Amino acid sequence: MKFIFVTGGVVSSLGKGLTAAALGTLLENRGLKVALQKFDPYLNVDPGTMSPYQHGEVYVLDDGAETDLDLGHYERFTSTKLSRMNNLTSGQVYQKVLNNEREGVYLGKTVQVIPHVTDEIKNRIHLLAEKSKADVIITEIGGTTGDIEGLPFLEAIREFALEVGYNNAIFIHVTYVPFIKAAGELKTKPTQQSVAKLREIGIAPHIIACRCEKPLDKELRQKISMFCNVPVEAVIEAKDVDHSIYEMPLMLQRERLDDLVCRLLHLTTPAPNMAHWQEIIRKLIAPQHRVRVGVVGKYIGLQDAYKSVYESIIHGGIGNDCGVEIVQVDAEEIEKFGADKMLHGLGGILVPGGFGERGIEGKILAAKYARENKIPYLGLCLGMQIATIEFARNVLKLEKAHSTEFDENSPHPVIALLDAQRKVTKKGGTMRLGAQPCQLVVGSMAGQLYGSFVIHERHRHRYEFNNHYREKFEKAGFVFSGLSPDGKLVEVIELKDHPFFIASQFHPEFLSKPHQPHPLFKGFIAAAHQYIHHKPL
Ligand code: GLN
Repeated sequence: MKFIFVTGGVVSSLGKGLTAAALGTLLENRGLKVALQKFDPYLNVDPGTMSPYQHGEVYVLDDGAETDLDLGHYERFTSTKLSRMNNLTSGQVYQKVLNNEREGVYLGKTVQVIPHVTDEIKNRIHLLAEKSKADVIITEIGGTTGDIEGLPFLEAIREFALEVGYNNAIFIHVTYVPFIKAAGELKTKPTQQSVAKLREIGIAPHIIACRCEKPLDKELRQKISMFCNVPVEAVIEAKDVDHSIYEMPLMLQRERLDDLVCRLLHLTTPAPNMAHWQEIIRKLIAPQHRVRVGVVGKYIGLQDAYKSVYESIIHGGIGNDCGVEIVQVDAEEIEKFGADKMLHGLGGILVPGGFGERGIEGKILAAKYARENKIPYLGLCLGMQIATIEFARNVLKLEKAHSTEFDENSPHPVIALLDAQRKVTKKGGTMRLGAQPCQLVVGSMAGQLYGSFVIHERHRHRYEFNNHYREKFEKAGFVFSGLSPDGKLVEVIELKDHPFFIASQFHPEFLSKPHQPHPLFKGFIAAAHQYIHHKPL
């Protein structure tokens, strides 16, 4: 078994996760079984309790783990199935070590960062290796080299590499080579210093992946090679992609990264066949059709808050050979300026998940606008609850209908907590989380889109459709097209007299891939294109 460690230097947000994921794509296409994991040095047990402003989206796995959004890249770029084994935070490590200490596991020893914390970290790599039976484990270390909180992780991977032998483990350091406008040059100094920092703790990277805006010429490559002590072929240019993150695997392949990795790890495999990725890129760069859809949210301008939603929309586009322009609409602006002004001309309207009251009324106006004007609508989690509230208020005339999340005293709590959730007092990891089965109704739009009747989708929410109102809704043309197998929980809804109005209590955006667009997103983009086609602006 072989191990690849990906570290980052100079600044955060360099796309280490994408680099790890794209390398995973290449190795998989060489016929290798790949497993990916991410270590995060912060003290939260998981990112589930963090605001999107702090951490971007929380990515949910089948087993209900709330994880870093890089795990979304791992699942989208490879076929690996992830579980809570694949994301480890300092918080989890310390929790485990402290529990062990209380239970007397350390038999009277002084409990220390080295070896107890580092052992726990190494253990997680071994556990994943055992469980995944992968040929190659790629471990990404979050944070930036030089951060105090990252040190135990770096120490642990240094020891790990020593223990498994240098033929079996390599280090890839992702750094930044900034372009300094005043000098008109790319500068290598930050990279040199960041590598020096790594070597100080005993890690000598085998490969330097240089994020840069301009191409790295031969001279710069030689300079980095000399100062960072790697052969020149191990200086990899990771230039900003022109169109899409999905170009990354092809770009790294052109730099022969996968070739080099396989040589360093003594892996003999054929060159990867990337024809299907090339076709994906073709559809992204030169699609046959184009459409604009709106995402109505409250974290507008924050690229990472709706990461998987945006990616899934793009996948839906790939599935229709359709380039999608995503218009980010601030729900509060709809409240101020009206739906028509903010949403006019869009092929489709999507309301994603969310928590908290800000922007709720704007989202309700967006759902109303989509329903009344027969514009394709896709609601995800909160987006389904919004569609429900809107229908209750404006079609069923249930005055002040609301979710109890936003109005505890609503006379018509059409969205409410189940008893099980009412008792919950702790915040972390206590929502309805992870993959759960759902049965689709024969003849429904959802059933048609999925082409099957039992599906498994991932959840992350507390509130549910209030069954007390089911009959009233049904009589007025609101279709419950997906239910939990016991029939008690509403999972998918749609509208009868509408070309495409569909919303799910689960989060389909966690299961879409560029080469396997999710049926709901594929259907949404097809409907949006159809709508614009038949109703020219
Ligand atoms: N706030 C809602 C709930 O908890 C919706 C959550 C979401 O959209 N993920 O049920």
